[in-house]
Amino acid sequence: MNIVMGIYIVILGLLLGSFFNVCIYRIPRGESIVFPGSHCTNCNNKIKGYDLIPVISYIFLKGKCRYCGEKISLRYPAVELITAAIFYLIYLKYGLMFLTVKYIVLASLLIVIGMIDLDTTDVYFSTTITGVIFGIGFIIASYFFNLGIGEFIIGGIAAGGFIAVIILITRGMGWGDAEICLVCGLFLGFKLSIVMLFLSFIIGGIVGIGLILSKIKNRKDYIPFGPFIAVSSLLTIFLGEYIVNYYMAMF
Ligand SMILES: [Zn+2]
Repeated sequence: MNIVMGIYIVILGLLLGSFFNVCIYRIPRGESIVFPGSHCTNCNNKIKGYDLIPVISYIFLKGKCRYCGEKISLRYPAVELITAAIFYLIYLKYGLMFLTVKYIVLASLLIVIGMIDLDTTDVYFSTTITGVIFGIGFIIASYFFNLGIGEFIIGGIAAGGFIAVIILITRGMGWGDAEICLVCGLFLGFKLSIVMLFLSFIIGGIVGIGLILSKIKNRKDYIPFGPFIAVSSLLTIFLGEYIVNYYMAMF
């Protein structure tokens, strides 16, 4: 753990978090995530570089567009801060290692995919295929580092396949959920994928029942499952090995 490195990781998280905001907004609208540059969604004015500094610009602009005064959602700085915090925690736990890079990429994919699913209840193939390509890339890199690859190939097939079976039997989930689990399995490997699936059903169940009991949703409403997979995968990155060891110790 090195303070300068830690600061770099936080800045990287803030900058990428800002980019993820663009992805979360534009991908469901079918817009390019690169062009044009950032503009106000209300008055369409191009936003200058000095107004695009993550979190800081939001504070200086008091959460309003410089040109038209339209309120900027608190979600933008929140996503930037959450991304930076997750990156920093991954670095704190894994140091400067191969796993840090891999988990930062997985967390990035999950933030974008999870937030889009929360907004639209849709999972976009362009996002999950990007995840599969990165996942396979890390498996190839693992092969060259002699880190073992079977665990990850099986993890992807098992996690995605498990959800596919649930879809075929119950029709209660979407194919997007199977795609997200395939991506998570490729990154997490078989053992941690079991933890991830277990956590996502527990958290999804608790939140789902809570939403129905509090009458925010009724029983027929569609509750997207992707955000639960995303949260569970992030928890698995931090707690998965403890949960696996705990269960191993029981038997
Ligand atoms: Zn504006």
